[in-house]
Amino acid sequence: YFTVTLELPDENATLNLGGALARVLVPGLLIRLDGDLGAGKTTLVRGMLQSLGYKGRVKSPTYTLVEVHAVSGLNLYHFDFYRFNQAEEFLDAGLDEYFAGTGVCLVEWPDKAGHYLPAADLRIGLEVVGEGRHAFISAISERGRSCLTDLMN
Ligand code: ADP
Ligand code: MG
Repeated sequence: YFTVTLELPDENATLNLGGALARVLVPGLLIRLDGDLGAGKTTLVRGMLQSLGYKGRVKSPTYTLVEVHAVSGLNLYHFDFYRFNQAEEFLDAGLDEYFAGTGVCLVEWPDKAGHYLPAADLRIGLEVVGEGRHAFISAISERGRSCLTDLMN
């Protein structure tokens, strides 16, 4: 598998990357979104949803754990585990069914769920660099590799 590094000079670049990702999503895909608070994880998801035609406000799931969106024939499950104090809270939250189906799962703070989180297909790391961001997109499954290849073409 492989990693792609992208420079995102401004918020619009992050939204556009979300739009590009939206075109390569496949049912059941799980994407880990890594990066500090304010790195742009939620902005990236907003870019995906908006390019899929979602007109509403994209809320951060920080308090709700998951925000569910049905858009363009896809179910998008947007998670944020920032508030977990221990990984077992993933089990207590009863989120299993979201990860078992054909929905696309986008997970902020995946490390907070420890090994309870199912295996991901793509990992997207965002880092603040100067005024902008760098994105590191890694394929970590065969399905992820196929999506990342599509993204680059
Ligand atoms: P996170 O979900 O990672 O905590 P958010 O997406 O909520 O971060 O917030 C990121 C902040 O950084 C927002 O204010 C957004 O406008 C800004 N931002 C996003 N992408 C970029 C970028 N490429 N360059 C500069 N600012 C960005
Ligand atoms: Mg966020």
